[in-house]
Amino acid sequence: MKLRFAVVGLGHFAQVAVLPAFRHAKKDCELVALVSSEREKLESLAPRYDVKKTCDYEGYDELLRSGEIDAVYIALPNSMHCDFALRALNAGIHVLVEKPMAASVEECEQMIEAAVRNDRACMVGYRLHFEPANLRTLDAVRHGEIGEPILFDSVFSFQAKEGNFRLQKDLGGGPLWDIGIYCLNAARTLFESEPEEVFCFAERSEDSRFQEVGRSFSCTLRFPRHRLASLQCSFGAADVSAYRIVGTEGDIRLEPAFDYSGELKQYLTKDGRTSMQTFPKHDQIAPELIHFAQCVREKKVPEPSGREGLGDIRIIEALLESADSGRAVKLGEFHRNRRTGIENEFRLPAQGKPRTVNVASASYN
Ligand code: NAD
Repeated sequence: MKLRFAVVGLGHFAQVAVLPAFRHAKKDCELVALVSSEREKLESLAPRYDVKKTCDYEGYDELLRSGEIDAVYIALPNSMHCDFALRALNAGIHVLVEKPMAASVEECEQMIEAAVRNDRACMVGYRLHFEPANLRTLDAVRHGEIGEPILFDSVFSFQAKEGNFRLQKDLGGGPLWDIGIYCLNAARTLFESEPEEVFCFAERSEDSRFQEVGRSFSCTLRFPRHRLASLQCSFGAADVSAYRIVGTEGDIRLEPAFDYSGELKQYLTKDGRTSMQTFPKHDQIAPELIHFAQCVREKKVPEPSGREGLGDIRIIEALLESADSGRAVKLGEFHRNRRTGIENEFRLPAQGKPRTVNVASASYN
């Protein structure tokens, strides 16, 4: 039985990454419905992907009750994730939601509770949990190739385009929510633990783009076992997507580290020698779809779960509190007993670059 999906929101990411991925996931998933307020997108994309059912956001609840879909892929602005997920879960529909899971801890908790109460799956779209370069790095760290991991350092930045939802506070915009979350998730994943205390500086700049959400964030996180992470993200700087994990005996740098539209490169330095490995562009979305469908079929909780999503949002809230107060913020205990690993590695060929309808990428670069 294939899992029948509706994709909700036909923005840039849905069009360039999510819709094409259904081709690689066709053994497990079927794209059966599209939801958007823009008729032009529906009329152009539905025939291209052979989708019979389309509706606008007003028709969403009826679609959920129609018996024609089993799951939704939510690719809407961040502030809308929770509402659209709750409506789906309460109608008995499984949810795969884009990162960040939601716009607050409270919203994440509501989604987790609704998934449990309705016995439905709720997974967060952290595509790098299935991505070879990131998983090989995690595996090398786990196997002690750089000794004991001590420091993590990461930068993610680009020039955000005026008018994009990422620059609007009420739509859940802001660099920490959109890209800082990648640095944060990589630190938690590679250290296999949760930070105990965080500090954050935020800078706005005079640029009119950054009056609501700030331009740059610089964060320090203290992890258990005397480990430190430093994360920087910006919507007003050139394209950088990188991290480095430094151990007692060597270090691994990934640069680019977080992209889905090009190759990723890993540099392992040990005993004064650096080896480089290139990971070609892969389809990073189909693995999520396939894993999600398999978990639903086997009645397993899919990872990255709602709890994994919540794990980042609680830290982002603490970082924002720190930026406001000018003080370090302590975090309570939070346990994750499942993390990703090399067993989740998928290597699917890259998708082509589809023609887009009425969307613009988030970046000027
Ligand atoms: P986008 O602005 O291109 O698309 C947003 C979509 O939401 C559009 O179709 C828009 O019409 C629709 N929408 C509905 N109500 C809206 C409203 N009130 N205001 C603005 N738009 C509204 O954004 P995107 O880049 O496609 O991002 C969508 C989601 O996907 C976000 O949650 C983002 O974090 C996530 N995303 C994930 C990745 C990844 O690599 N996993 C990459 C890019 C985006």
